[in-house]
Amino acid sequence: MKAFTYERAKDPVGAARAVASQSGAKFLAGGTNLLDLMKLQIETPVHLVDVQDIGLDKIEQTADGGLRIGALVTNTDLASDQRVRRDYGVLSRAIVAGASGQLRNKATTAGNLLQRTRCPYFYDTSKPCNKRKPGTGCAAIGGFNRNLAILGVSEACIATHPSDMAIAMRLLDAAVETVNPQGITRSIPIAQFHRLPGDTPHIETALQPGELITGVLLPKPLGGRHFYRKVRDRASYAFANVSVAAVIGDGFQRFAFGGLAHKPWRVEAAESLSGANAIADAVLAGAKTTPLNQFKTTLTRRTLSAVLREAQA
Ligand code: SF4
Repeated sequence: MKAFTYERAKDPVGAARAVASQSGAKFLAGGTNLLDLMKLQIETPVHLVDVQDIGLDKIEQTADGGLRIGALVTNTDLASDQRVRRDYGVLSRAIVAGASGQLRNKATTAGNLLQRTRCPYFYDTSKPCNKRKPGTGCAAIGGFNRNLAILGVSEACIATHPSDMAIAMRLLDAAVETVNPQGITRSIPIAQFHRLPGDTPHIETALQPGELITGVLLPKPLGGRHFYRKVRDRASYAFANVSVAAVIGDGFQRFAFGGLAHKPWRVEAAESLSGANAIADAVLAGAKTTPLNQFKTTLTRRTLSAVLREAQA
C-alpha cells in the first residue's frame, strides 16, 4: 500500500473542503471497497478524509411520507429498518442479497452507490484497463468477459456496476443528495447519478470533485408487492449475473435490472407492456453481447418470467 495521510472530518462541508483542497484526496467511510483497492494499488489516494464522525447516520421520515437515508447508514441498518422492510421491501431484499453480513455491517449507503466494478481486468494491474488507467485499452473486450455488460456498453469499457442496493433505488426513483465544498446542496435523480462508460469509463458518477453524498431520498411508498431476484454463480457472496428488482401493484409495474450494464438498468417504456417476452424485448433492445456473455439475454428473460410468475401466484 502506498503511504497516505489521514484526517477525521467534523462536518459535511468541512469534509468536502478537505477533499477539494488537496489533489488526490478521497473520502473514507466504511472502507470495504476502497481499502481493498488501496492494498492492490488500484486506488492510490495521497490523503484520506474520514467522514465517520460527521453525523449522517439516521433514517428519517420526510414531510411527504418518504424516507431520508443518511449517507453513513450501514447496509445492515438500512436493510433491517422496520419502515424499509414494510414499505420498501425491494430495497431491503436487494441489500441482503449483496456481500456478506460482516461487510454489510461496515458498508455505508453512499459507499455502496460508489463501489467500483468487479471486472477482473480492473483488478489486474498487469492488464490494460481504460477505467483504471484512461487510454490504455480494455483487456475485457476479447478477454474473459462472461459476467460483464451487454447494455449501454462502449468500445472503451464493458464493465458492470456491482451494487444490488442501487438497482432497488433506481426502481424506487431515489435521489442522491450532496453538498459541495462551498456548502451548496443538490439532489441528483438516481437515473442521472451513475453514468454509462462512453469514452470516459473512469468517470462513473455525476459527482463533481470534492462533492460529498449526504443522503438518499426515497419518495413516498409505492405500495404493491416487492421482489428482488438475483441469479449468480454461487448461492451467496457473489455478484449478479442478472438481477431483477420489481414492484407490481394494482395497475402498475416497475422493473430494474442488475448485472447488465455500467449502471442500474431501467426502461420505463417497457413497464406499460404485458408479458415477460414483450417487456424483455424492450429492456434488451440494443444489447451487444460477446460469445461468453450472450447467455445473459436468455437469463434476463427467464429471471423476469420467474418474477412475474411469482407475482401471479
Ligand atoms: Fe477496464 Fe472496463 Fe475494460 Fe474492465 S471492461 S478492463 S473495467 S475498461
